Amino acid sequence: MIAELICVGTELLMGQILNTNAQFIAKELAPRGIDMYHQIVVGDNPQRLTEVVRTALSRADILLFSGGLGPTDDDLTKETVCNALGLELVLYDDEWQKILDYFESKGRTVASNNKKQAMFPPNAHILDNPNGTAPGCLIEKDGKTIIFMPGPPRELCPMFVNHVIPYLQGKSGHLLYSREIRIFGMGESEVAQKLGEIFDSSNPTVAPYVKTGEVTLRVTAQCQTEQAGLLLVAPMVTRIKEILGDLVYSTDGETLALVCHNALIAQNKSLSVAESCTGGLLASAFVDIPNSSRYFIEGAVTYSNDAKLRRLGVRPSTLKKHGAVSAECAKEMAEGMRRTSNTELALSTTGIAGPDGGTDEKPVGLVYIALATPQGTSVKELRLFGDRDRIRLTAVLNSLDMLRRYML
Ligand code: ATP
Repeated sequence: MIAELICVGTELLMGQILNTNAQFIAKELAPRGIDMYHQIVVGDNPQRLTEVVRTALSRADILLFSGGLGPTDDDLTKETVCNALGLELVLYDDEWQKILDYFESKGRTVASNNKKQAMFPPNAHILDNPNGTAPGCLIEKDGKTIIFMPGPPRELCPMFVNHVIPYLQGKSGHLLYSREIRIFGMGESEVAQKLGEIFDSSNPTVAPYVKTGEVTLRVTAQCQTEQAGLLLVAPMVTRIKEILGDLVYSTDGETLALVCHNALIAQNKSLSVAESCTGGLLASAFVDIPNSSRYFIEGAVTYSNDAKLRRLGVRPSTLKKHGAVSAECAKEMAEGMRRTSNTELALSTTGIAGPDGGTDEKPVGLVYIALATPQGTSVKELRLFGDRDRIRLTAVLNSLDMLRRYML
């Protein structure tokens, strides 16, 4: 079964808004055995939208539309598509009443042009929109399914999950069950080499995805029930874990930060961080997660030498002898942070994120990270590559991985 997504809106074409609906829908379809070979963005223009509809009808079974269901004149998706399909729009009294009720509940007066939001082709299946005025709708015609959804993500996403997915699932007759294995500390090609013929497996399939500094493997089984999928996928996950060992940090798609977060809570340990080159990114990785207050005590961005001396008690002689980007400084930063914030554990980062500031001896990408614990302090030297953003992000990931390994 092939679906095609058509996002309507001139502001999408102009780059004024990001097409998050496309990402959301694509991610939801992929694990459900529904192929999507094309996604189209088209402006609010009837002629070009009509051309897009004709092309999509020639190559897809399901046409998904996002946007252009509003009351204004440039909201023309339903009208244009139905015109192209030779379908007339009629007023659905019940839907019109719901729109009137919606406006009343918000204390607003309804405009006459809102009426077009209650117009659908005969025999349309209406998709409720509790978060806005434009209901969606689903039409079946000549073996094709046409689905209209409103543009705002807070309206489209629940409509897609609550109404469209169950419908598509029923049509496809099978489902895809998948698990995400996350790996840190080894590149994609090395992972591929180690796993060898595992990548040839057909059910479940194993597919790699690479994100900054990390490799993710998606293990996917085609199955009739979730239970059957689980039985196909679980042995493959176990096999991959056996081969890659503790490089695997999650088999359920959790982020490195979430794995650390869960371990810190489970083991009842407190944490503080002292950052130089990562400038708050490491603290933010924890604070982004709800409930981090259960262990996260303090973060300090000690960017200057003076701040390292004053806030963390790094020794002047350490800075003089080894410099701020050194194993010694990272160690004293972590230890100073642990001591002054009175936490069980403390992480630190110091390095050269570039693009300037590198030397032959200390090139851009040289980063030291440290973890101070009751058993002592470990320090790691990293030689990172890429631009400033990448270096800072991979420094954070390495720090999280250092903590994760300690928590194991
Ligand atoms: P409305 O009744 O709010 O006008 P609509 O169905 O007509 O809804 P649009 O007018 O096309 O939708 O878009 C309304 C808003 O929804 C846009 O301004 C934008 O903020 C958001 N939006 C639309 N399409 C997308 C998309 N593909 N991805 C993310 N946001 C979108």
